[in-house]
Amino acid sequence: MSELIDTFGRKHKTLRISVTDRCQLRCSYCMPLGNPNLFAKENILSFEEIAMVVQIAAELGIQRIRITGGEPLLRHELHKLISLINKIKGIESIAMTTNGLLLRDKLDSLTESGLNKISISLDTLDPIKFANLSKSDSLTDVIDSIDYAVSKPNLKVSLNSIAMRNLTEQEIIPLIEFALSRKIFVRFIELMPFESINWNSSKSLTAGEILKIVEEHFGAKVFEEINKERFAASARLFKIQDGEGGFGFIASLSNPFCMSCDRLRLRADGTLFNCLFSRIGFELRPAVRNNNEEEIRKLIQKAVAMKEKGGMEEFACSPFSPSRIMSSIGG
Ligand code: SAM
Ligand code: SF4
Repeated sequence: MSELIDTFGRKHKTLRISVTDRCQLRCSYCMPLGNPNLFAKENILSFEEIAMVVQIAAELGIQRIRITGGEPLLRHELHKLISLINKIKGIESIAMTTNGLLLRDKLDSLTESGLNKISISLDTLDPIKFANLSKSDSLTDVIDSIDYAVSKPNLKVSLNSIAMRNLTEQEIIPLIEFALSRKIFVRFIELMPFESINWNSSKSLTAGEILKIVEEHFGAKVFEEINKERFAASARLFKIQDGEGGFGFIASLSNPFCMSCDRLRLRADGTLFNCLFSRIGFELRPAVRNNNEEEIRKLIQKAVAMKEKGGMEEFACSPFSPSRIMSSIGG
């Protein structure tokens, strides 16, 4: 089998697939209010078209899939896509990132179809702050979904929380305690630079600042880092002593992990990106719609060959941010 190795020796094994750029929430750090410029429906890949890309990507060495969006569960009968991907030889895990609003009723069909990991976004346990942040009063639906997901024996569940100054400081300890009570991990994601949110570095709360708050609360000795060795892990995870579950960081800004990145990203309209911050995309849709497998293969290989050293490392020391919004490329 051929492998997707870039000029820096990074082997690509993960494909993130954004299945829609639509979302029913308007998280202030992600999606602009009003009517963002959305893809025309006819330009969004069907499940069969996505599966065709995954089939070829798997032949080239992709082993892990993460479904994201926008909100992926807005795609009708998403379990059918999971089922198609689950049949593809070489795919070892299928994960999803969701806001959790629609998850409770859909979870059975998703896990039966092959979903084995889920990350649910939860930024606060305070209903008023949740409503202010996301423009929705559905916090209890999200919590119901988390509790149902945790009850599933073969599903690995984690929480994602944004790390944003003047918001997250107060949420850190309640969120960690919530995660511990469910024996799962909560991962704080440093707010990343996107033009749509008027980003500047002072808006991101860093892993170091969060760690200090955790140490002050739990004491430095009660936690240990658990996944130091894992190659390509974007998250640093810490376990609270004697407990199951814990907390972690996706420290894209303060500690970029570009040199261990193993990801490619497929946008809902069929454009492939080799980095969240890449300025060029590779349009697979025409080749997919012409059933041109050879061309799809060449474009995937080209995207890997042209991958630059590090998008996030560049952003950590530069004010530039791409004009694309997070909800379209998929976090
Ligand atoms: N709608 C789903 C959700 O909210 O989980 C999936 C898509 S969302 C874009 C995926 C993740 O990206 C979420 O966990 C969200 O918190 C994160 N995210 C969105 N905007 C971000 C930003 N500017 N910086 C860091 N993370 C961001
Ligand atoms: Fe929607 Fe997820 Fe973005 Fe929030 S973070 S607006 S839920 S896509």
